[in-house]
Amino acid sequence: MKWKELKRKNKLFFEEMRKVDPYFFDKMVQGQEPELFVLACSDSRVSPSVITQMPLGKLFIHRNIGNQVNEHDESFSASLYYALKHLKVKGILIIGHTHCGGIDAAVNGNNEEALKPWLKGIRESFKNEDSTLMCTSQLSKTNVLKQVERLQAHAIYKELGQHVPIIPVVYHIENGKIEHIDYDGNAIALDM
Ligand SMILES: [Zn+2]
Repeated sequence: MKWKELKRKNKLFFEEMRKVDPYFFDKMVQGQEPELFVLACSDSRVSPSVITQMPLGKLFIHRNIGNQVNEHDESFSASLYYALKHLKVKGILIIGHTHCGGIDAAVNGNNEEALKPWLKGIRESFKNEDSTLMCTSQLSKTNVLKQVERLQAHAIYKELGQHVPIIPVVYHIENGKIEHIDYDGNAIALDM
């Protein structure tokens, strides 16, 4: 991919947006009122706005490897705080996904120095499980449910988010579908 290609695509983007609504960017300048705070993996195949076809302004997104809630992660904590305190989001969507390289690296004992501290956090999600017996779908489900637990225990959520529902989902890379998981780990009909 070349810079020229990005530039060309960007031109198509802003021209199309202006064609649909000549005041679109003026409205963007007025501010944002996203309905959901989204935590997703950094994986290039899991862009939340793309897989849900949500327009700009709808999703306030935080991404990291393995879609982790980590109370020591200042970047995540700041995003969570801002989303709850100032944007007053109506829900928190945690998007796990199948074939996650971050989870694979964590459970298969990747030892690269620069990744170690982060993978340790992911590995802790599986400390009570036999991850060797789990398929990619079970791994992502277990991981996303662990993040729900961590979020419920997060000081900022406890202070500002008690009334805000947490919606755990797994995005299936192999077919593009989002599966809504209940807190007991069962797949449920999508009713967001
Ligand atoms: Zn991932």
